[in-house]
Amino acid sequence: MMKPFSPDRVIFEPRSLDYPLGQKIHDYFEGTSTEIIKASIKKISSIIPGSTEGQRYASGKKTLVVTTKKSLKFDVCKPSADFEFSLVNGCPASCEYCYLYTTQSSKPYLRTYVNLDEIFDSIKKHISHSGDRLTTFEVASAGDPLAIEHITGSLARTIEFFGTLDKARLRVVTKFNNVDSLLGLKHNGRTRFRVSINSRYVIENFEHNTASLDERIEAASKLAVAGYPIGFIVAPIMIYDRWKEDYLELFEKLWIRLDRVKSTEPVTFELIQHRFTPAAKKVILERFPNTSLDMDESKRTLKWGKFGRYKYVYPRKDAVEIREYLTSLIGEKFPDARIEYFT
Ligand code: SF4
Repeated sequence: MMKPFSPDRVIFEPRSLDYPLGQKIHDYFEGTSTEIIKASIKKISSIIPGSTEGQRYASGKKTLVVTTKKSLKFDVCKPSADFEFSLVNGCPASCEYCYLYTTQSSKPYLRTYVNLDEIFDSIKKHISHSGDRLTTFEVASAGDPLAIEHITGSLARTIEFFGTLDKARLRVVTKFNNVDSLLGLKHNGRTRFRVSINSRYVIENFEHNTASLDERIEAASKLAVAGYPIGFIVAPIMIYDRWKEDYLELFEKLWIRLDRVKSTEPVTFELIQHRFTPAAKKVILERFPNTSLDMDESKRTLKWGKFGRYKYVYPRKDAVEIREYLTSLIGEKFPDARIEYFT
């Protein structure tokens, strides 16, 4: 059973304590074994201990920084949503393939933002530019807010905020399962939870400190019963010995656990094949020198990425095989589901 995340140290940027949420987080840690530090953002890197790459990485993952979000202009987030914004950057898990590694420092600490009202104002501004069109917002592209929801409660506030908005939808994705505090919220069906799932091989070998597959499916089932639209992100899909048997097992398990759960809207699936950049490969090999992650460039093809970098993806023939195989499994087990994209 997944234990709620508890950092070794929490660092408050002084301004964060001017906000009620900053104070609430401070109260949460007072009297606990977590070290409380007040420091400016510039000093954070020198406060987090570690002299080797492994130590710096581990210390970063056990550090929570409480701060404010300065830039409130949101990036476009295709194909999953119109825009992305963050309540949290980073997460306490250690997935060997994590796509965030190249955007983080060598001490990948978690950051949580306490100026929620300013973030909400910015969301309203972004909606007002879309006219009558429904605007979708992804909240988990730079981190997993559910991982520290027991500390912040900020995802709950955001879900209820979206519950009041006619023209907007919130999208959350997670590998964690502590959803109980979200079940009774007034979400009005405007937040779609997508649970990240994968084959047993991928979860057991590469997704450390995350909820187990069973825990994630149980969380999805609770959310569906609570009236949330739900979906699944199958990512990163990998080809290895017996990959077809493993993904079949995954969808059979999902079907057995979800068959009797009635969802308000069609269940969605997003399918993302494994990819890596040369920069990510370098970081992964430093952090996980014994990794069995397949990053053999000779078995991949280069694709131009939206961040101005090439990434290695499966050759077209393999990608088509992945797409067709998973599409057939979904069609067989979840005929009413909607596949939103394969990339
Ligand atoms: Fe990265 Fe997501 Fe894994 Fe966290 S849960 S380490 S953000 S892939």
